[in-house]
Amino acid sequence: MRYEGVVYRPPSEAHSLIVQVTIGCSHNGCSFCGMYKEKKFRIRDLKEIIEDLEQAKLNYGLIKKIFLGDGDALVLETNKLKSILSKIRELFPECERVGIYGTSNDILSKSLDELRELKEFGLGIVYLGVESGSNEILKSINKGVTACEMIMAGRKVKESGIKLSATLISGIGGRAKIREHAIESAKLISAINPDYLGFLTLMLESGTPIYEDVQKGDFHILTPEEIMYETREFLQNVEVDGCVFRSNHASNYLALSGILPGDKNQLLQDIDLALKGEHRYKQEEYRRL
Ligand code: SF4
Repeated sequence: MRYEGVVYRPPSEAHSLIVQVTIGCSHNGCSFCGMYKEKKFRIRDLKEIIEDLEQAKLNYGLIKKIFLGDGDALVLETNKLKSILSKIRELFPECERVGIYGTSNDILSKSLDELRELKEFGLGIVYLGVESGSNEILKSINKGVTACEMIMAGRKVKESGIKLSATLISGIGGRAKIREHAIESAKLISAINPDYLGFLTLMLESGTPIYEDVQKGDFHILTPEEIMYETREFLQNVEVDGCVFRSNHASNYLALSGILPGDKNQLLQDIDLALKGEHRYKQEEYRRL
């Protein structure tokens, strides 16, 4: 396999074969994200991608899961994605799931029929970075999309039959917008009802605009206790059905997981115990992106 630069993938793709079909992120403008700053966005040649898949077939055993990178590979035109998915099916008939990152704009630029075709060709899950349900926060982090567009995109993926995994970032509104972030995010997630919902916790990457804002004193990072209050407020207000909730990423202070709504009370109790000092928060030096 040939890889260009640092390669990122969602936590649940830890055991997947990663194939870069794009390099970087087509948006590459979110104020907190430094993942693809060193990469100039481009789409790889189909010939190269097919060669990589053939190489993987020769070098590895059974491949159960494949993740198509980089930052928003769903930006690829549908026919090209279909060619890649067909090749995957031909080479790896045992592959149970193909995953991909997609932005709201990537999703909205495809028709529902195109998404359904991608599902038929084997696309199993789309990872959507929602970050926040607040329009003000989305604007301040330069997400390039409104909450309403995010809802339309999320619902479209679900309607296509492809699984949807949405991610929120705890603390992304700073101290000034704890409640707004929690409440508006709960509204947005309730409107989409994703299959999976993951929480990350904001970590500062030097060189990003949000890092500069913190240095200038214009943005205040939350303490672990404030993160707990924010998460608690979110959980109390969110209404979803059969959504797998995970807040156990390396960046999180406290590992939480359950299925909503059934495990909501247990999750709230775990947060309350943490706030009373009965659960220990992850130490700063062990937090990772
Ligand atoms: S958060 Fe996602 S969409 Fe935003 S710049 Fe990073 S990779 Fe691109």
